[in-house]
Amino acid sequence: MSIAVLVCAVLAVLSGGHGMAQGPGRAPDYPTAPVPIARVTFSDAFWAPRLETVRNVTIGATFRQSELTGRIKNFEIAGRDATGEFCSRYAFDDSDVFKIIEGASYALAVKPDKALDAYLDTLIAKIAKAQEPDGYLYTARTINPSKTMAMAGKERWTNLQDSHELYNLGHLYEAAVAHYQATGKKTLLNVATKSADLVARTFGPAGLRYPPGHQEIEIGLVKLHRVTADPKYLALAKFFLDERGNPSGHKLYGEYAQDHKPVVDQDTAVGHSVRAAYMYSAMADVAALTGDTRYLAALDKLWDDVVLRKLYLTGGIGATGAWEGFGPAYDLPNSAYAETCASIANALWNFRMFLLKQDARYIDVYERAVYNAMLSGISLKGDTFFYPNPLLSLGQHERSPWFACACCPSNLPRFILSIPSHAYAVGGDKLFVNLFVQGTARVGMPAGDVAIEQQTRYPWDGDVRIRVSPARAGRFALHVRVPGWALDHPVPGDLYRSLTTGRDSVTLKVNGTLVPIRLERGFAVIAREWAAGDSIDLHLPMPVRRTVAHPSVKADEGRVAVERGPLVYTAEFVDNGGRVTNLTLDDQSPLASDWRPDLLNGVMAVTGKAKALRMRNGSPVSEPVPLTLIPYYGWAHRGKGEMAVWLARRPDLARPAPEPTLASASKASSSEGGKGIQGLNEQYEPTDSNDHTAIYFHWWPKKGSTEWVQYEFPAETTVSETSVYWFDDTGQGECRVPRSWRVLYKSGAQWLPVATRDAFGVAKGTYNTVRFTPVRTGALRVEVVLPADFSAGIQEWKVR
Ligand SMILES: [Zn+2]
Repeated sequence: MSIAVLVCAVLAVLSGGHGMAQGPGRAPDYPTAPVPIARVTFSDAFWAPRLETVRNVTIGATFRQSELTGRIKNFEIAGRDATGEFCSRYAFDDSDVFKIIEGASYALAVKPDKALDAYLDTLIAKIAKAQEPDGYLYTARTINPSKTMAMAGKERWTNLQDSHELYNLGHLYEAAVAHYQATGKKTLLNVATKSADLVARTFGPAGLRYPPGHQEIEIGLVKLHRVTADPKYLALAKFFLDERGNPSGHKLYGEYAQDHKPVVDQDTAVGHSVRAAYMYSAMADVAALTGDTRYLAALDKLWDDVVLRKLYLTGGIGATGAWEGFGPAYDLPNSAYAETCASIANALWNFRMFLLKQDARYIDVYERAVYNAMLSGISLKGDTFFYPNPLLSLGQHERSPWFACACCPSNLPRFILSIPSHAYAVGGDKLFVNLFVQGTARVGMPAGDVAIEQQTRYPWDGDVRIRVSPARAGRFALHVRVPGWALDHPVPGDLYRSLTTGRDSVTLKVNGTLVPIRLERGFAVIAREWAAGDSIDLHLPMPVRRTVAHPSVKADEGRVAVERGPLVYTAEFVDNGGRVTNLTLDDQSPLASDWRPDLLNGVMAVTGKAKALRMRNGSPVSEPVPLTLIPYYGWAHRGKGEMAVWLARRPDLARPAPEPTLASASKASSSEGGKGIQGLNEQYEPTDSNDHTAIYFHWWPKKGSTEWVQYEFPAETTVSETSVYWFDDTGQGECRVPRSWRVLYKSGAQWLPVATRDAFGVAKGTYNTVRFTPVRTGALRVEVVLPADFSAGIQEWKVR
């Protein structure tokens, strides 16, 4: 779409809430408007119960965690209703509370809840009291300005690279707009505008010229602009974007914070992926509102870079935990960071790209991220969460009720409860059906309301009936998305390719009559005179599909993933004899879908046959075994164990299940502070010292001290050799090979050094073996002296 069309497009008036500025004086905006959550009801078996769980469990659980961890007390202390010092860990902890308020507001927008409404009122009163008279709101400073933590900076706005002062406010503004639109109350909105007015007085071409270290305020300012029609908030959002990469204003923060070059010159996705995708979302907003074509050109290049080269099959982004962000092109290790917040940010960005361009490929990416990577971030019960969402686990992963850095748990309620507002959209006389979810919607079209009713078992079944009932008969164009996966394009571009062919095809009926499908930017267009009760039937074939990755993705070479509809499948240990990394799924082995009402709240499982490799008397033996796959989002609900999305297509890529060894039969323990103890003897051979797929043991953040790990043998045994594979995450973390080490054995109550002439090696990428005079003992220790300025860790430890 040309920018001229974009800025001239008339925005359909669609607000279901309060206070959207409308009418002739209204600024240009996206050419497409989402149908707000209050006008969309899901009544399906997949999303409706999840939304209910978020309303009934997640919001309460995350507010409770915010109370337990001092996040809410911080507001009380800052407001002088309580005494004490800042009592949580990070200066950005205020933002978690704002995010949960935003989610709670979406809950109130669709369903009255007196208790929740009252809780928000009380909480908002605390926040308002914590705000300083001039509008400044940042409990990490207000509580005790003379004793701030390092990240906050000594004075206001002096350490924006780390302080998150502006980041917090972005979430405040989003929460305030959501609360206002849901309840009509201006209590939080007044806090937000008072804060934003201070920021507008402080920053700008004639004021401070620092962009925030973590993007987010730009999105919040745009929402504040829309609800107040105050142009200075939009100008400020654009100012913060344009200051990035502008060395005349400040010392650049670098690639990590996308502050290495001006945003309009950025063409490669780099750095922290949540910051990046929030920034891209804000660029889309500002482009829509200002018509700045340079933003659009940059967004196209950045989107290509992410979707063609840096997107996990699950829709997750951010390959490495070292900077919580993007790696190089095609570098997609299955140890995947894929932070839950990054999947949310990716979905938010792609939804905005759809609003800009009315192209279904953006919803394809949105859907992939939402049904897979994002949904993995929250348990079925709604009270435990993942921060990273790997595509391969050796059993070290488990959801947690909270994290010291709690960005992900607090992000999930607001995102999940906003999904209904992504299902439908309107652009002029086009009514877009983006998502297939059974339920109803009341869509405001220029000629009047149109009631939509969807009947479908999606995502388990690809038949969708859509009833279209306009209040008055009239002509408009229904644009029904035909997902890329239904046309053999699992993703836009060639990062992933479908191996499955030869099945029935997508069909479309209008009032029972088959019609040819006219595709326009991925949407089947049905432009006609609509009358109450008209219906269309969309048939999306949903066979089990095999998908392979681009040959440049080394991690997936020779491997296959299984998908069905919008869902990525995975093999988990509990369904597959305790292991999955030893399985081979050859291309000819048939796969079938199998409805399991009792599994994971009801899922379509995929079943077939695989080959399992096991070591027997020193040689690998292959045997046929049944294979069961579950939707990826459902993993890690039945204990800790192996999980793999990408299965070996060739036996040489499977890891034979090892035979028990003395090490694997031993009880492992360590000196205090050691983490990942199972990594010592989980028998996964690391590929190098920096292999983050293997479970590694480490003492970080301890440095310079003397530490130990220990095996207690099942019975007294004679041992004479031990091998240690050191962990070293140079370039990513603070673990290095040790300064020195030695081996001790237990003799009575004493630990004695073994007798050896071998050197205690510290080579990387290999086992360091020491042979010693045989000893008969019940336990062996490796004692390690950590480097002065670094920690250390162990990939694997063997004993013979
Ligand atoms: Zn997060």
